Amino acid sequence: MTAALPALPSGTDILICGAGPAGLALACALHDRGWPVAVLEQADADTLAAPADDGREIALTHRSRRVLEGLGLWQRFTEVSPLRRASVRSSGSRVPLPFDSDGQDLGWLVPNHEIRAAAWAAAQARDIPVHTGHSVVGLEPRGAALGVRTRDGAALQARLVVAADSRFSTLRRLAGIGARHRDFGRSALLVPLAHERDHQGLAQECFLEGHTLALLPKRGLCSSAVWTVRNAELPRIQAMDDAELAATIEAAAERRLGGMRVVGPRRIYPLVAVWAERFVAPRLALIGDAAVGMHPVTAHGYNLGLYGIEALARRLQPGSDPGAPAPLQAYEAEHRRAAGPLYAGTNALVRFFTDDRPPVLALRRAVIDLARHLPPLRAAITRRLVDA
Ligand SMILES: Cc1cc2nc3c(=O)[nH]c(=O)nc-3n(C[C@H](O)[C@H](O)[C@H](O)COP(=O)(O)OP(=O)(O)OC[C@H]3O[C@@H](n4cnc5c(N)ncnc54)[C@H](O)[C@@H]3O)c2cc1C
Repeated sequence: MTAALPALPSGTDILICGAGPAGLALACALHDRGWPVAVLEQADADTLAAPADDGREIALTHRSRRVLEGLGLWQRFTEVSPLRRASVRSSGSRVPLPFDSDGQDLGWLVPNHEIRAAAWAAAQARDIPVHTGHSVVGLEPRGAALGVRTRDGAALQARLVVAADSRFSTLRRLAGIGARHRDFGRSALLVPLAHERDHQGLAQECFLEGHTLALLPKRGLCSSAVWTVRNAELPRIQAMDDAELAATIEAAAERRLGGMRVVGPRRIYPLVAVWAERFVAPRLALIGDAAVGMHPVTAHGYNLGLYGIEALARRLQPGSDPGAPAPLQAYEAEHRRAAGPLYAGTNALVRFFTDDRPPVLALRRAVIDLARHLPPLRAAITRRLVDA
């Protein structure tokens, strides 16, 4: 049963569709700049207030931390795990390629459900109206506004509508904006693990033949394994019991963390990257995964979403028409410049590190060995991580 949808408070200029971590963070950013905003979301309020653990550990950059601190979300996190160092290894490479930042943390891991809960609490603390239990199914121009229709027959309008409704965005489709989808034919299996040895804050990325294993350091003697496997392999892996799964991951990690134990449910995410052909349309802006849905290997999906939120909020000058073409086009240009190289670079990296033909395998071992002997290159990559 969905509740009847009250009319938007008069003067609400901006309607954000999707109360995920991107939609709610934008709502807070715009509210803080003086904009009257409202949010529409298909899930119910209880689910948003206490989101279930979905297994995702979100690696956040220094720049994202600054944005989240500014919005008061960071202060609400209770589980932050520092990423002190990182290493990259390819099957057959003698030693991993290390990355560190002279004692400074490379970034931090925060569980996705904590980010969602913090964003919800921050929006509630600001009294931002969030209309829950309403799914958007229609979009139509209405003079100097854009109208939104929900499945339960309600109609709303605002001078600017923002699509923050995930990488499979309904609003993007309704607005006639195409998107390039890249299905990697693989899925990420997330497994929470306890282990014998201290990870010392080291995140490990291992590109192995036929699969990829990332070990993300959590608090205590715990890590989250992100095991990327071909979809055809999933039934075999799903059939493993926890002991066999832990032993398989332990072997892939060359027992660097000692014996391992599965300590929670495993979760599967099919890997599909999405790039919207446009990030804006008349009186509409796309943010978060609705604009760019990244492969998680470079851990940049939500980080990029936050940079886009910063850009859009900065371009909208209170007192002006938020749906005017100029600020939307400026947002689009800025966000495409920021996201384009990361999106293309991530997909190229995935192609290179998942191609197991012998010459490519040999080349990537050589690349890793060469990079080990090029400290300026490693320093540049680390700086990119820290300063992003
Ligand atoms: C395995 C994995 C690991 C990741 N690791 C990282 C990482 O380390 N670092 C990083 O930066 N990012 C990471 N990401 C990406 C990150 O999780 C996403 O970028 C982020 O969650 C996107 O937030 P969003 O608000 O745009 O979309 P979503 O979280 O998908 O939220 C969309 C919201 O819109 C609502 N909605 C959808 N359709 C409608 C509709 N028709 N009407 C009303 N409401 C609707 C949904 O209910 C939902 O609440 C990872 C992703 C995965 C899958």
